[in-house]
Amino acid sequence: MNAPSPIDAISTLALPGRAVIDGALVGAASGATFDNVSPRDGKILNRVAACQAEDVARAAAGARAAFEDGRWRDQGPRAKKAALFRLAELMTRDAEELALLESLDTGKPIRDARAVDIPLAIGTTRWYAEALDKVYGEVGASPIDRLSYAVHEPLGVIGAIVPWNFPLHMAMWKVAPALAMGNSVVLKPAEQSPMTALKLGELALEAGLPAGVLNVVPGLGGVAGEALALSMDVDMIAFTGSGPVGRRLMEYSARSNLKRISLELGGKSPQVVFADCPDLDAAAQAAAWGVFYNQGEVCTAASRLLVEASIKEDFLERVVAVARGMVPGDPLDPDTVFGAMVSERQMNTALSYIAKAGEQGARRVLGGERVRRETGGFYVEPTIFDGLEPDHVLAREEVFGPVLGVQTFTGFDQAMALANDTVYGLAAGLWTADVNRALKGARALKAGLVWVNGWDACDITMPFGGFKQSGFGRDRSLHALHKYADLKSVSVTLR
Ligand code: NAD
Repeated sequence: MNAPSPIDAISTLALPGRAVIDGALVGAASGATFDNVSPRDGKILNRVAACQAEDVARAAAGARAAFEDGRWRDQGPRAKKAALFRLAELMTRDAEELALLESLDTGKPIRDARAVDIPLAIGTTRWYAEALDKVYGEVGASPIDRLSYAVHEPLGVIGAIVPWNFPLHMAMWKVAPALAMGNSVVLKPAEQSPMTALKLGELALEAGLPAGVLNVVPGLGGVAGEALALSMDVDMIAFTGSGPVGRRLMEYSARSNLKRISLELGGKSPQVVFADCPDLDAAAQAAAWGVFYNQGEVCTAASRLLVEASIKEDFLERVVAVARGMVPGDPLDPDTVFGAMVSERQMNTALSYIAKAGEQGARRVLGGERVRRETGGFYVEPTIFDGLEPDHVLAREEVFGPVLGVQTFTGFDQAMALANDTVYGLAAGLWTADVNRALKGARALKAGLVWVNGWDACDITMPFGGFKQSGFGRDRSLHALHKYADLKSVSVTLR
């Protein structure tokens, strides 16, 4: 029998709405809920527990107790690995359900949720399960009567505050290495997209993670998120989201227990195309998908396209041709490649940037409108502006929506100056056939991720994070394991 289509499957889908606190599925103690709206049609999907300070305090205390009595931390590497692999198996078993929840919550195309978000979240879980017994300490250069060594010890309770653009995927970038190192976790999903995190909490219990080791507290950022970041039971906040909230988290840390903070705050990433680009069609695909993938709601979105003046007209035509194929459609239609924006607010933000860009004199060459209004959903066309000046708002501020600004340059020095003319430094790319220019460019670009002749061409094996105001701390790779650990130096005097 064929599996039901995504739209038919909704009627039998259980929509998770309860918090996972200390091993139990619970509502908020106050009974408060918030409406979880689907961007696909603007309708309320379900009502989700709106955790308040008291609920977060219970989750953090449960996580603390679990850490202190060692029920997870002290399990051997083999046992931890087996538990995380069981979790990955259960995520695989329920992958279709997770993809459907993700698409409903965020408006992303079901084909992306199926092919990208959920497989990557599962892959991340497996990768850290596999990595956790490959963390080695160090033996220092000790005198003959002393042995000095350094070990990585788990930090304790990790608060993970995650965004709505890749909800489960971003959650696992933090949850998997934090658990792999032996920590307990309190996960706070974004209020726009709580469902896959709640399902994850259920699956973790089914996989046999002890109570209190992974808690999930849905709720509003300014309530549940703030309470988590101010908690004296939390040793670190790992965050992905906006700059203003990142700044607040540092204040909360200063006001509470100096908990560690890691921040991934998005960017205004440039993609630089030199006239000797080895493959203009591939670069045009990368320019369009680099900014329009996931409706532009990507922290590494290539939202500034810098093109060498001599090829600008030809190249822009190619980019526009690719983008014309991205027609906003129903996220649950398996053929849709471009879905809805996550919320009415995010849609209105994008539309206001589009209006401002026009007022500032940039020339709109594609899109710019809200579409599919009759569905009640939040759809904005892929939009391209040419003739961007460095002081235009589109050249300076992160839109987090499907809006591309095009600038021209002449020569390497001007390209690098324009590319680096931003407070952000998450990702940058360049296209050239000249190996010297490629390597000099990779060195000159001030960004945590640099891609040459490709975009977003790396995976879990490489660190992910920003320079400058794009934040600090790294997700992915073995570096992320160390982020969730402290280094203890032990010296034993031999008598
Ligand atoms: P946000 O920073 O407000 O939300 C991200 C997370 O932080 C959510 O879980 C939210 O509930 C939580 N949060 C909000 N206020 C908080 C507070 N006071 N204390 C603790 N936690 C809090 O992001 P947003 O409002 O959803 O989106 C706004 C902008 O953020 C976007 O336009 C985009 O520029 C940026 N953003 C970046 C990323 C990224 O991947 N870097 C992801 C999502 C959003």
